[in-house]
Amino acid sequence: MEKKKRKKINYRAFRFRSRMKLIAFFMVFILLVAGIVRLFLFIIPEETTVQGASDKSPQQNTAASEKSSLSWEHTISLEENPDQCFNDQIRQRKEWNLVLVNPEVKLPDEYRQNSEIITAFDRQMDSRLEEPYEKLYRAACDAGISLWISSCYRSSELQQELFQEEIDKNLKSGMTQTQAEAEAEIAVARPGYSEHNTGLAIDFNGVTMDFENSKAFSWLQKNAAEYGFILRYPKGKESITHIMYEPWHYRYVGVEHAKKMKEKGMCLEEYLYYLQENES
Ligand SMILES: [Zn+2]
Repeated sequence: MEKKKRKKINYRAFRFRSRMKLIAFFMVFILLVAGIVRLFLFIIPEETTVQGASDKSPQQNTAASEKSSLSWEHTISLEENPDQCFNDQIRQRKEWNLVLVNPEVKLPDEYRQNSEIITAFDRQMDSRLEEPYEKLYRAACDAGISLWISSCYRSSELQQELFQEEIDKNLKSGMTQTQAEAEAEIAVARPGYSEHNTGLAIDFNGVTMDFENSKAFSWLQKNAAEYGFILRYPKGKESITHIMYEPWHYRYVGVEHAKKMKEKGMCLEEYLYYLQENES
């Protein structure tokens, strides 16, 4: 009888241990699955963007990159670092190649009166950009570097269209009109507030973060200034430009200015402020 009872107790203990092992196994399994899902969510969107862009020819990619370029050009809240806001201290200059356009500064209405939009390299651009871009492009070709334009000039009408699309998307997701407009402003520049409205800005090679690791990017970093181009939204200047780092977005400012900006490590806002301070 005594023996039987002990046996029964041991059996219960065994069942208890088995259940605990099973529970522990499930907990580990759930944690593992949660970890994999988290990893998946972080990694996949970036890879999809890169692959989506590189799989298409430059022509096929135009519309897509036009869109993705816009979605990439996230502005950064001005409240994040109001101390470094140069915009209210900068006056627009007379030189066309130094025109300032950013989320706070609109392209002056008179700017378009003196410029002409043409089609070159299968893209629309300011006519004054054609020659310097051709020189840059030829030099890149000679060095075995493949450069192509994803997006250059955007009219205010196209910008308005894309801005409205973003508002409509937000309204559909249940936002109020005010919320929808505020959110749209973060993702898409308002008409007249995108540097692409100047026709002097170029988005290169598919508009992906991966461009940073390409030979073309290294070449541009080394040589773009020689042809008058600057990386407009550099890493580390986000609090001044209020646009996130964009390795693909270059802006024509002219050889002399591009070289000086490179030498001084200044972004356009800093450089314009510097010029102003040193003139008066
Ligand atoms: Zn751009």
